[in-house]
Amino acid sequence: MASGIIFTVAATDGRARTGVLKTPRGEIRTPAFMPVGTAATVKAMLPQSVRATGADILLGNTYHLMLRPGAERIARLGGLHRFMNWDGPILTDSGGFQVMSLAALRRLDEDGVTFASHIDGSRHRLTPERSMEIQRLLGSDIVMAFDECPALPAPEEAVAASMRLSMRWAARSREAFGDRPGHALFGIMQGGVTRELREESAAALRAIGFDGYAIGGLAVGEGQAAMFEVLDYAPGLLPQDRPRYLMGVGKPDDIVGAVARGVDMMDCVLPTRSGRTGQAWTRRGPVNLRNARHAEDPRPLDEACTCPACRGYSRAYLHHVVRAGEMIAGMLLTWHNLHYFQQLMQEMRTAIAAGRFAAWEAEFHRLRAEGDIEPL
Ligand SMILES: [Zn+2]
Repeated sequence: MASGIIFTVAATDGRARTGVLKTPRGEIRTPAFMPVGTAATVKAMLPQSVRATGADILLGNTYHLMLRPGAERIARLGGLHRFMNWDGPILTDSGGFQVMSLAALRRLDEDGVTFASHIDGSRHRLTPERSMEIQRLLGSDIVMAFDECPALPAPEEAVAASMRLSMRWAARSREAFGDRPGHALFGIMQGGVTRELREESAAALRAIGFDGYAIGGLAVGEGQAAMFEVLDYAPGLLPQDRPRYLMGVGKPDDIVGAVARGVDMMDCVLPTRSGRTGQAWTRRGPVNLRNARHAEDPRPLDEACTCPACRGYSRAYLHHVVRAGEMIAGMLLTWHNLHYFQQLMQEMRTAIAAGRFAAWEAEFHRLRAEGDIEPL
């Protein structure tokens, strides 16, 4: 592993594990949930507020930042940490996934991908080498290899061809990344829902050698059952002593199922995006604050939650500001959702360390099955 980045598994319980990933910018407790700071901001949150929810690390998006304000500009302004006022670790994606999901006029070739910006139509090109350069300019602590990720379902031949291209790009990413003490490079396993392709991809990545390994190409339309089927074996194909990162996951029950299967890190826009549309996530499942049942409810969203939204405000107030389109609605619900997701991770870390993850997981599902508190 690159010097300055050390991963230690402190305890395992079944396939679940807890540990710490040490970086020069701070420690990341695992299993870890990474809030998404797409455009150099976790929307509706100050960085210190994100930290207060318990987040150790943020995710930044190469695609968005390269288009606006531009990687070279961020580098001239001191790098992404200074630019967005977050001094903890930052993981950046490679840009590949978002080019495929957001950009127009994409043209994929062996060397890379050419595309038009979704903002102004300007033309850009990403290659493994350019992606490594952009992530270096941003100052990312954990850099992701450049890959291509097909949406599922897709024909197996297409998934296989895409995976093999991603493995060639992984080798080029490793070469271009070079030796950067204090910074880690993660490879990304692809192969859709086909075990043989996942095995081939894992073997290719292990041969190249990375500081950590992501499981990519999931949570792209295959459904939870198919995702868990892959997660039943995929983490075991990767080195035991390196962190495993499941990209783009997910809902609380996806997260818990992934941790149970040996995943160490995850990211998702769900808590932040939901928070801006009036949806809250609680121990008892999702709650839509827009719903009229909350209009005169003086109780907090979750009486056991210690976040500012739950300590200071009623469901009636949250309902009112959501309906009125007030900015504080997105601020409070984003804070609550991030707090809940981080609370979930902390509970799992504690349960794994104590060897009682299965009992914790049963209680997690029992509370969710109860559903939201009864209306008054
Ligand atoms: Zn709360």
